[in-house]
Amino acid sequence: MRKTKHIAMFSGGAASAYVAYLMVQTHGLENCLLFFTDTLWEHPDNYRFMYDIADYIGIEFKHVMDTRTPETVFTETRFLGNSRLAKCSSELKVRQTVLFIEELRDEGYEPILYFGIGPHEKHRQENLTEFYAHQPLEPVETRFPLIDSNLKDKNLKEVIENEWKIRLPKMYYLGFSHANCGGRCVRGGLNHYEHLYKTWPEVYTQQEEMENRLREMLGDVTILKRDGSPLTLKQYREELEAGICKKNMNPEDDDTVPCVCIFN
Ligand code: SF4
Repeated sequence: MRKTKHIAMFSGGAASAYVAYLMVQTHGLENCLLFFTDTLWEHPDNYRFMYDIADYIGIEFKHVMDTRTPETVFTETRFLGNSRLAKCSSELKVRQTVLFIEELRDEGYEPILYFGIGPHEKHRQENLTEFYAHQPLEPVETRFPLIDSNLKDKNLKEVIENEWKIRLPKMYYLGFSHANCGGRCVRGGLNHYEHLYKTWPEVYTQQEEMENRLREMLGDVTILKRDGSPLTLKQYREELEAGICKKNMNPEDDDTVPCVCIFN
């Protein structure tokens, strides 16, 4: 019989931080762990936030990395991630998680994974449950403590800032919808990249240069699409500079497409 280990999946999200806190209140520090899969593209202030949270709760913080960046994954797999498919997520986050699950089982623990999904994202719960049920050798249990709570994202952030006295990651204050991969998420749409260009043009340039390297290798591949057609970051930047950029006909195509990364 394996001993249960409760694991909060964490990449600097306020909701996941609060879930870790609730998990410890219910199951005790010695049975809980905070788990972070590093893509090496994270914003420096995310690390500060994560370690502040771990210190405040007093929870063990397991920080793992594959040693490849998303760009290395795109180069190796000869596929540039985009809003529809991003192998960086499966290679750098899911694979590391599955390896850790199996490592824990070898040590006699049975992990349960906790995610910071709120009531407004309830429709994602089924996808994630199904997803993690099929990745490890044996299915793994997933839990979503915020789904049935009345806590709103805004309330959680207030608790963290005002009661715990921990500053949220800098990217929250700059208006990014999530703080993963330092604003470089290839699953971001036109709105995300417009915001990135206006907020951190140098990071946009990094992405544009990466896209150019991948295009030299693979041909007409792009991170962005507009109305189903490829749109390079160079084209989009030039439109933004000229103040003439067009949006997708279908605004829903501009939403950042959720992947397992943003629920950590
Ligand atoms: S946040 Fe985006 S770029 Fe980073 S690993 Fe996940 S899908 Fe890839």
